[in-house]
Amino acid sequence: MEIYKKILEFIFPSKCLSCQKITLPQGYFCAECFSKLKIGVSGGMCNICSTSLEYADELDICPKCAVSPPFFDRAIYIYEYNKISRKIVTNLKFFDKTNFAKYMADMIFRSFSHEVLDHDYIVFVPMHRKRMSVRFYNQAALIAKFLSKVSGVQIDYTNLSRVKFTKPQALLSKAERMENIKNAFRVRDSKLFVGKKLLIIDDVFTSGATLNECSRLLKKYGASRVTAITFAKTML
Ligand SMILES: [Zn+2]
Ligand SMILES: [Zn+2]
Repeated sequence: MEIYKKILEFIFPSKCLSCQKITLPQGYFCAECFSKLKIGVSGGMCNICSTSLEYADELDICPKCAVSPPFFDRAIYIYEYNKISRKIVTNLKFFDKTNFAKYMADMIFRSFSHEVLDHDYIVFVPMHRKRMSVRFYNQAALIAKFLSKVSGVQIDYTNLSRVKFTKPQALLSKAERMENIKNAFRVRDSKLFVGKKLLIIDDVFTSGATLNECSRLLKKYGASRVTAITFAKTML
């Protein structure tokens, strides 16, 4: 009976993911948090990185992408990274709420099922094994795993790996982030991604430097398309 209850709780969380208040079964957020969550801009955004555009009528690519186009074809996200969405990410990342990855994957699939299904493989931003030995799990890998389960799109766990132990990006400036992450990744089997449409998952899109470096490598090894999906995106 206890197990049955646990399974039910797992499938239908009854607490708000952000503030932990009891909420309606099947709802991920209480009404108050839901009202404060900002869903990513839908109109007037950059066709590549999804940043909102000031002069939406004239442009479809933001100045940043126009000056130096990223290696990913498109980066999309569900929520703006704010007080409410940050709590969810922090809970998953630092407080062992690994079941949150399932809910986040579910939300991603609900928002972007069409985009997700149009890919050959799901991959994720890998974590260095040294960091893995301290943290025990990679939150991006967990979201990717559940996204693969809910969508049926195959996941590849190992072909993209992290070979350089880098400082946390959050502690660095924009320029330092790019230098820090340069050549941090490796593709093991050079043939696996040739001609494939790849979906790369991370929890938050911040400067985009990490996702861009992964995408550079995936494209170098023949990916025909790279789409980045994150749960949240910081508004710069
Ligand atoms: Zn709440
Ligand atoms: Zn852009």
